[in-house]
Amino acid sequence: MLQSKSRAWLQVDGDAVRHNLKEIKNLIPETTEIMAVVKANCYGHGDRQLSMLMQQEGIKTFAVSSVDEALNLREAGISGEILILGYTPKEHFHYLHEKQLLQNFLSLDYASQLDEYASLHHVVIRGHIKIDTGMARLGIRCLDDDYNIQEVFEIYKLQHLSVEGLFSHFSVADSLDIEDDRAYTIHQRELFDQVIADVLQAGLNPGKLHLQNSYGVLNYPELCYDYVRPGILMLGFTSDDSISINTSPEFIPAMSLYAEVSRVRLVKKGCSVGYGRHYKAKEDRLIATVSIGYADGIPRAASNQGMQVLLHSQRAEIVGNICMDQLMIDVTGIEHVKSGDIVTLIGQDGNERVTIDEWSRCVHTINNDLVCQISARVPRFYE
Ligand code: PLP
Repeated sequence: MLQSKSRAWLQVDGDAVRHNLKEIKNLIPETTEIMAVVKANCYGHGDRQLSMLMQQEGIKTFAVSSVDEALNLREAGISGEILILGYTPKEHFHYLHEKQLLQNFLSLDYASQLDEYASLHHVVIRGHIKIDTGMARLGIRCLDDDYNIQEVFEIYKLQHLSVEGLFSHFSVADSLDIEDDRAYTIHQRELFDQVIADVLQAGLNPGKLHLQNSYGVLNYPELCYDYVRPGILMLGFTSDDSISINTSPEFIPAMSLYAEVSRVRLVKKGCSVGYGRHYKAKEDRLIATVSIGYADGIPRAASNQGMQVLLHSQRAEIVGNICMDQLMIDVTGIEHVKSGDIVTLIGQDGNERVTIDEWSRCVHTINNDLVCQISARVPRFYE
């Protein structure tokens, strides 16, 4: 039985996260550890709470996007390694050594700036070198015809940096049905291995190695590096279109999203609902207003697209344009609907479930995007 907690709220199921971590561990080699990617407030789920849960479950290494996210984890009591995957601006370099953070050495130029700072302040900055094997985002470009291994060696020579790992990132590990994409992923792995071999050949220590994101874990679980780097997989929201037929573990979505009905009214045939008057009742309809909108993270693009939510364990369609704080649903035929009833926007109610995949198909995006959009004003509850 659903219990009301607010006008709109997000419920996070800690047991689901624990279960998903176990499933990941079962998939990967025994010697490989999880580096938990908890950036963007742990994909909207709450980074402090879930990182602490993960730490209790034995996770020792975390990855975030920015120094602010890293500081937030340190304040919450995360004592293990934290790798900043993104760019740290100069004015925040001091946090890297003060808080014992690992920085992505994302280019030779950037590493040189870090080294200059570290030399001036008589400190050492620790980090992992990012290798660009085909993502063309961050990292030293190491492609067949643009193979800059000398730049990697140059970073190793910087006196005030401590290189403690090498990593790369897949760009199409989720794409299974396109042969070309599979070949691309395999080749990214070969290029990464070539870099590791060259580093070893030069007598340097490659340190900790890591390559796979969630779909890398699911679709290429046999790869054996020091870490895997899953994000969305720990939260159970992988896309059902992108999981290899070779691996069929059960991942459980950790997040459910609810909101209360504020008002129910009869909308007569021919009358419109909401801004823009894009929905007009073809016959008399019972319409409920739900107290959640695009300022809470419900994508406005889902307006008038046939997207459904749950009320009294039954499906009800969103009608009219989604507003900033509210949306309207057609509850005709559902009995005893009243103010205060709970609507499930993501999750299970009785035998029915609304999946994140339904939302992402509706608005042509990926699950990661949608869960990150759930705004700070929606309270999170943990069980
Ligand atoms: N590694 C890097 C470098 C990333 O940027 C991300 C997320 O975008 C991840 C790992 C985790 O990705 P996913 O949530 O698909 O597992």
